[in-house]
Amino acid sequence: MSITELEQRIAALAPEARAAAERIYAVSTTTGTLVAPDEMRPWIEKLFGSVDAVAAQRIVRVTDRVTLEGALFNDLRAKRPMSVPEKSGAEVAETIRSTENDPFCHPETGTPADDFGRISGALGVTASNVAKYDGYHGVLVFNAHDPLAPMDGRAIADHFATARRWAEAAFARDPFAPYYFLMWNCLWRAGGSIVHGHMQMTTTRGMHYPKVERLRRAALAYDAQYRRDYFDDLWLVHDGLGLGVTVDGARVFATITPVKEREIVVLGAPGADERTIASGVSAALAALRGLGMVAHDLALYVPPLAADGADWRRFPPVARLVDRGDPGNRTCDIGSMELYAASVIAADPFSVAAVLQRGPAR
Ligand SMILES: [Zn+2]
Repeated sequence: MSITELEQRIAALAPEARAAAERIYAVSTTTGTLVAPDEMRPWIEKLFGSVDAVAAQRIVRVTDRVTLEGALFNDLRAKRPMSVPEKSGAEVAETIRSTENDPFCHPETGTPADDFGRISGALGVTASNVAKYDGYHGVLVFNAHDPLAPMDGRAIADHFATARRWAEAAFARDPFAPYYFLMWNCLWRAGGSIVHGHMQMTTTRGMHYPKVERLRRAALAYDAQYRRDYFDDLWLVHDGLGLGVTVDGARVFATITPVKEREIVVLGAPGADERTIASGVSAALAALRGLGMVAHDLALYVPPLAADGADWRRFPPVARLVDRGDPGNRTCDIGSMELYAASVIAADPFSVAAVLQRGPAR
């Protein structure tokens, strides 16, 4: 199964899932062509297998009409040449090892505390971020230095619980900032400035961060137009396409509008605590690491810590996990297209889903 067949796959869905897909997505397929001079043939054949493979390239464009997130898929791009040699996994492992005994290895003396002190979990302790994104900006420093150490559902749940306790402590200090956001930038390629494993938490005032608020509004508008739950329909489509798996009740799927390579989305039930999706997040992490992921970004979207007058009733805990590519590659994985137009994707969500579904049987 391939993303290039997405239009046919949607057409073949059962009626309810097909209707959901047609409500949410605009999908189109086009062919890009080129004419290669004979002099380029050996180079093209070496890199892409054959001249035919590049002479006519299938490109699938997917737009979520509700959120206006979109992706352009062309699997040929996975084979395109890179101008710098890729750093080996061994070099990343060496960097992780050589940074042991950094300040995060002794957070009590190596990191500042928040004005409410530190929150400790079984597997980590919080610190106050030195250069803050927002009024309260904390760090959850993992006990383990190695950010690539395996993390099962219980470990993720412990981190989520510690981070939430931090958020509640911050909210008690600043009751005008009920909007809590959790992120995990793993390694420099993903924006992490410290190698030692850590998540970050913020609370903010006024309204949730724009991308979270935009999703809430989009889902409400969808409900107002169709009398359907956007998140339920999102799952219906991905499950119908064979892109999803449920893990301890959480809906885990390789999205067809990934923000960048191999994005997996994890949805819980509306009103549920994010710990209910911890096993799902762990399964997503394990699947992507199984595909060679080293650097990743993870975000958690949850309703505010207290009622804010807006309708969050149908907003579930949402986690998004994305592979940021080889830390040894000097070519950045995002450019003008991703910043200003739509995401350009090489990895096929159907390949990601196959690995996700092969995970531990449940
Ligand atoms: Zn460390």
